[in-house]
Amino acid sequence: MKPNNTKPYILVSACLLGAPSRYDGQAMTNNFALQLVNFFNIIPICPEADSGLSTPRDPSEILDGKVISSQGKDVSEYFARGAKIALEQAKKYNVKLAILKEKSPSCGFKTVYDGTFSGKLIKGQGMTTRLLLANNIKVIPDTSLEEFIKSLHSQD
Ligand code: SF4
Repeated sequence: MKPNNTKPYILVSACLLGAPSRYDGQAMTNNFALQLVNFFNIIPICPEADSGLSTPRDPSEILDGKVISSQGKDVSEYFARGAKIALEQAKKYNVKLAILKEKSPSCGFKTVYDGTFSGKLIKGQGMTTRLLLANNIKVIPDTSLEEFIKSLHSQD
């Protein structure tokens, strides 16, 4: 779609927009995320795919500040690279807002898995989320998207 110069640019987790970029090769299409195009110019990001990791790939979780794959491989370097690429995109387009997928070791905002691959969630943020927040970019998780879209409509 052609960019609309009157709309601000935002980053959005690509899997929420229907890209099959998750570790298991699936998308997490979110109908509210698809409505964002009515209000913003969308820059889809997938920090894990952008980092050079393949899709599908082994799932990874954060443990003691490192990102470890289910096979026990330290993939922190990839996740750091993906976060850096997302930040570069944000800076290039003067992005002030990112809509990211909760629970992911890259994109999680309030919760991430605890590093034991047992499905247990703990409070924490993904590596990309952390880097964007540290650079004053607001993050809204997909779990708050319905409320966010309603607030945008009420401003119409
Ligand atoms: Fe979605 Fe983020 Fe995981 Fe990519 S890294 S599949 S955008 S949650």
